[in-house]
Amino acid sequence: MRLQHANFIAVFGFLSSASSEFIDYSGYKVFTITHEKVNQKYVNYLQAEFNADVWDSKKGQADIMVSPDHLEIFQERLNLHGLHNFYHQKIEDVGGLIEKPRKNQILKDLSDFNYEIYHSYEEINNWVDLIAEQYSDIVEIESLGFSHEGREMRALKVVSGKNLATKSYYFEATIHAREWITPAALMQIVSRFLENYKNGEQNEVELLENLDWYFLPVTNPDGYVYSWEHDRMWRKTRSLYDESGRCYGVDANRNWDTKFWDDDIGSTSYYCSELYRGPNPWSEPCVVNVRDYITKINADRNPVKGFFDIHSYSQFWLYNFGYDEHKPDNLNNLAKIGNFAAGAIYDVHGTVFDVGDWYNVLYPSAGTAIDYMYDVQKVPCATTTELRDTGRYGFLLPEDQITPVSEEMYAAYMLVGNAVVDGYCNSQSSDTVDVDSGIPHDVLRKFREQFAQ
Ligand SMILES: [Zn+2]
Repeated sequence: MRLQHANFIAVFGFLSSASSEFIDYSGYKVFTITHEKVNQKYVNYLQAEFNADVWDSKKGQADIMVSPDHLEIFQERLNLHGLHNFYHQKIEDVGGLIEKPRKNQILKDLSDFNYEIYHSYEEINNWVDLIAEQYSDIVEIESLGFSHEGREMRALKVVSGKNLATKSYYFEATIHAREWITPAALMQIVSRFLENYKNGEQNEVELLENLDWYFLPVTNPDGYVYSWEHDRMWRKTRSLYDESGRCYGVDANRNWDTKFWDDDIGSTSYYCSELYRGPNPWSEPCVVNVRDYITKINADRNPVKGFFDIHSYSQFWLYNFGYDEHKPDNLNNLAKIGNFAAGAIYDVHGTVFDVGDWYNVLYPSAGTAIDYMYDVQKVPCATTTELRDTGRYGFLLPEDQITPVSEEMYAAYMLVGNAVVDGYCNSQSSDTVDVDSGIPHDVLRKFREQFAQ
């Protein structure tokens, strides 16, 4: 009760004095720089020197947000570095794209839920309750524990009553707070999956009979709430290790205990950076909670064979590894699955996803969820998906894209579900497919035909 009361006060405070507490991004601009000189070191330099916010970076390209105060000197410096012809403005006014605050809508009936707008943490929790109520025969709410600020993390476990499944399939969104499209898309995907199952759609029925499904809509609740109430561009958690009390938060996707964790590979020990990895692995309760949850599923239930960490933006389908260049033994399966998933995405609305290993496609990164899941939890198909767009709106993707994003990702996640059922994610040791379950049907047959090519 104390927690609920505290949340109520926080929300109320935000609504009553939004203007003083909410960071104003009027006049902030986002630039894209494309040049071979653009690497992690250069991006870190820009961030530190101009207090710039790195929205996205990959080999040879970065999207950087700059405040009006630093605009002139930032551009002067890029020109001085010979980048005059290699950058352009992508977003003219970040403030103008930020959603207006609105009151929480707590519902009694799932049919009133609006899947076409972004939702606050309270509203997502309300949705979790309503979904579990509506589909009480197959859906259970499971608590993973509490975040640093005491918010309960709740996942939906979806299992058919038939007890035929031998594998688990897991999704999590919002490990980075400002990536609002990720819980919005995941909620639509869950809703469609359950509805199709209930309506007896063959593919969903077979997928649920063959897999236990898990969905965690908000992996970093403190950060997500902060992004709603104070700073729309917040990425990290909300713990404080900076003794000066100035810089809060850890990048929750650099806090997993992987190889080379503290080698400054795509992360840093600098408190104020968006890529601050924390004082040690597992410093963030929200990360520990997911680790323990997956450990429990693997120990006591059907092992997790497919794991998705859902992010935005940049339209990537990424598999292991992030921390170095070596390739997973089941690379051929991962690449095939990724390419067919990208094909499935393209078929829905023509959205193009790039597929590959994190290290080469993005930039080297240690301490990520998918590398931990692969190496330690032995999840054969651990994937990061970076949803729309490629920077036109970035994290401020308009709400009218929630449905198309959900539709294209639904196609991909179901296709991979079929691959998992069909044995393509049974093992990490080789690319041999060991089919141990699954009933042939049209979708699966189509997938197999594609896969065999
Ligand atoms: Zn992210």
